[in-house]
Amino acid sequence: MPHADPYQYDVLVVGGGHAGVEAALASARMGLRTAMLTLSADGVGQMSCNPAIGGVAKGQIVREVDALGGAMGTLADASAIQFRLLNRGKGPAMHGPRAQCDKKRYQALAKLAVERQPNLTLRQEAVESIAVEHGRASGVICRGGFAYRARAVVVTTGTFLQALMHTGESKTPGGRAGEPASGLSTSLRELGFELRRFKTGTPPRLNGRTIDFDRLEAQPGDDRPVPFSYLTERVDQPQMCCHITHTNARAHEQIRRNIHRAPMYSGQIEGAGPRYCPSIEDKVVRFADRDQHQIFLEPEGRETLEYYCNGISTSLPRDVQDTLIASIVGLEHAEIMRYGYAVEYDYAPPTQLHPTLESKPLPGLYLAGQINGTTGYEEAAAQGLMAGINAGRSVSGAGPVVLDRSRAYIGVLVDDLVTRGVEEPYRMFTSRAEYRLLLRHDNADLRLTPLGRSLGLVDDTRWGRFEARSVAIDLLNEHLHAHRHQGESLHQLLKRPPTTWGELVEIDESLRELSGDESAVDEVTTAAKYGGYIARQAEQVERFRRLEDKPLPPDLDYGRIGQLRAEARERLERVRPRSLGQAGRISGISPADVATLLIHLRRPSAMGLAQAPRSP
Ligand code: FAD
Repeated sequence: MPHADPYQYDVLVVGGGHAGVEAALASARMGLRTAMLTLSADGVGQMSCNPAIGGVAKGQIVREVDALGGAMGTLADASAIQFRLLNRGKGPAMHGPRAQCDKKRYQALAKLAVERQPNLTLRQEAVESIAVEHGRASGVICRGGFAYRARAVVVTTGTFLQALMHTGESKTPGGRAGEPASGLSTSLRELGFELRRFKTGTPPRLNGRTIDFDRLEAQPGDDRPVPFSYLTERVDQPQMCCHITHTNARAHEQIRRNIHRAPMYSGQIEGAGPRYCPSIEDKVVRFADRDQHQIFLEPEGRETLEYYCNGISTSLPRDVQDTLIASIVGLEHAEIMRYGYAVEYDYAPPTQLHPTLESKPLPGLYLAGQINGTTGYEEAAAQGLMAGINAGRSVSGAGPVVLDRSRAYIGVLVDDLVTRGVEEPYRMFTSRAEYRLLLRHDNADLRLTPLGRSLGLVDDTRWGRFEARSVAIDLLNEHLHAHRHQGESLHQLLKRPPTTWGELVEIDESLRELSGDESAVDEVTTAAKYGGYIARQAEQVERFRRLEDKPLPPDLDYGRIGQLRAEARERLERVRPRSLGQAGRISGISPADVATLLIHLRRPSAMGLAQAPRSP
């Protein structure tokens, strides 16, 4: 067999971070010849910041990525050193699985998953520009002039574009400590992309040998760990402990006295940072009445003593970081191994993207991850997966895949980005999802695994697990509806708030045999207990779909709809929504504008125009 051309692929993925990993694996699993080109082959899957995956809303995203056949869930499970289901005391929509991971192991496993994947080539390259032919992306040019050709290109360059790292007054070009910045911005600008600046930051890391853990509150993991992946049957590895300490008035005073030396306050940084994930200098200024802030000391792995100080991200000068750490209980003698820093980088405002994550300025070019103005590994992975799927499908001549807001957090994420854009780094919250009771972490497989299977992303093992769980859930439900106790079905009994599954098993012994799959029992219990609310949300989804199902022609000339306000016209032109529902979510578009569009669509002259593409 002739050797395949090492510079010719179906899909190129630029970047090997969390978006790049999912994009490349998805494209290759769909049978497309794919190459991942990244600055450092050793940096594939690197956690740039905290060594943890998941959390509230983010955990749901990881479960969805997993349910669609993505890698993040299995990588996190295999490398986890501590599992915690957050918000256990709240309702099921708020539960968020989180795992503290061994950073090095996560990265090694991510690289191995890429290396093992048939159809996928991993190559260390610095991509300098995007090549264009006949108005479409046709490949990339790398440092040294090496040219790769492909039918679709997915760019996932994270925090690296024109990146500048700041610690106090010192500024160094670089996308992540020890790594260079990326010069792709010039090429993107030349192609017509608008780019803006954001910033994010990271805390100092400490040597655990020098931390006085005896003076700190311990935070162990859950006794019954909940893994991310539907493929993980059991968690066997021992869990490690995290610790909690606090800042104090003395530390705050130090920060206040040196605030003029913080790049965010001296004017050295121009980009906006994440408001909900502020640096310690931000917290001290914004919450002036608080005399302490919590710090979680999180181990970075099993074979290192390095600790991550979650809660005190900072870009203050080194001498201030030294005194800050020394003023904190338990850290009086702690040695800083790596100083905190902030990084400022270019991102591409995501209203320049279609809901498939294909860019509007250049067909065939997809953008995913932090380059789209998001923050977080999970948000990046979800976009990578969707961009990889859509790039692959467009190359194969198949239709696009767009998840709607009622189907997945991933749908909420992509819709928010392409419809509303971002003013600050975007992270997912449960409050962003209107139908969060339907988008629980526990039912992600029921919502998405059949779709993953139809796309070629779900292998036989995962499909077998899914089918077995579905059967277990069906059998339990049938049993609960068919069997009665004192005139009421077991299902009715279970619906009552105080009734537990254990009590039900005592009433009906035959249920014990059907209770082998704990996750199926949990699913059935949640569905019964919250059945009323779930049904109400399902009705709301019906209403939502009615507008979502009203396509707006992609070439609709908004300038000719006389009744539209000028501002609405300009916004609709910019976003080019694919449905009436999406139009209504654009900021600045009022219900009256939507009504005007509806009336326009009903006119005979609006008929016969191309229908917006639909997902399978
Ligand atoms: P990245 O993980 O950044 O990966 C980008 C990839 O692209 C890398 O592999 C890089 O080598 C490659 N690349 C870049 N340019 C080129 C090129 N020209 N050619 C080839 N390859 C290229 N997230 C949070 O949720 N909370 C935080 O507190 C937080 N703090 C952060 C602090 C810092 C200092 C940094 C750097 C990041 C922080 N993040 C935080 C963000 C988190 O790391 C990212 O959201 C996530 O890693 C984004 O994934 P990604 O795949 O989009 O990009």
